Amino acid sequence: MDDIDAILSCAREAQCQCLPESEAKKVLETSGIPTTVCLEAINAEKAVELAGQIGYPVVLKALSPKIVHKSDVGGVKLGLRNAAEVEAAYQTMLTRAKAIDPDVLLTVQEMVEPGVEVIIGAVTDPHFGPVMMFGLGGIFTELLEDVCFRLIPISRQDAESMIVSTKSAPLLTGYRGQSRKDITAVADILWRVSELIKTHPEIIQLDLNPVIVHEKGAVVVDARAVLLANHYEDG
Ligand code: ADP
Ligand code: MG
Repeated sequence: MDDIDAILSCAREAQCQCLPESEAKKVLETSGIPTTVCLEAINAEKAVELAGQIGYPVVLKALSPKIVHKSDVGGVKLGLRNAAEVEAAYQTMLTRAKAIDPDVLLTVQEMVEPGVEVIIGAVTDPHFGPVMMFGLGGIFTELLEDVCFRLIPISRQDAESMIVSTKSAPLLTGYRGQSRKDITAVADILWRVSELIKTHPEIIQLDLNPVIVHEKGAVVVDARAVLLANHYEDG
């Protein structure tokens, strides 16, 4: 049993089919995918302590199986610069989130520099089996449906060709004087996700949304995983 199996069987014991951000990111970290690890803060004091360890600025987020789109309900607060801001944000977020889920937890994570946001995902199609998905974030994916799909497993070369095949790829390759972003790092994440799903098919869906891409490197700032339901019945 590897570390990933351990996290998945923990989820099985807790009867949770959807891995929250903190657990999904542990799976990614174990798979060699760069993420902002989120640390659980049981109270505002602990949040301030964690922020000090992580280093300012930090991000505060709500963690609950009942909250899928955190920013829609005030569950994401970016760029907190000091202890006073963390404390204030903690109280406000907790009050709002508790109205949705009394058992909600708040987490603290590092604030990543702005870059180009992309979406990397894996879904299991009932006919084709596991499929990789890549798109540029926000309106490019949602409004323009500029996404690329490929059957799992993919090679690193397949991953690069997925990226450049999207119409919005120039945002990564350098558009109108913008710097070229680290496509190799994005391809590496795509390939590692493909390997993860290949070796752990009980993960039937994985959403890395977004992955922030810089001139050097790319990092997953939000993640969610869905596990196969009968995975529990089997176990
Ligand atoms: P949700 O998708 O549940 O609303 P996210 O965790 O994706 O919440 O956060 C919303 C947005 O906030 C992201 O799309 C991203 O632009 C930004 N964001 C989230 N986490 C970070 C982070 N650690 N560093 C920088 N920006 C972040
Ligand atoms: Mg998100």
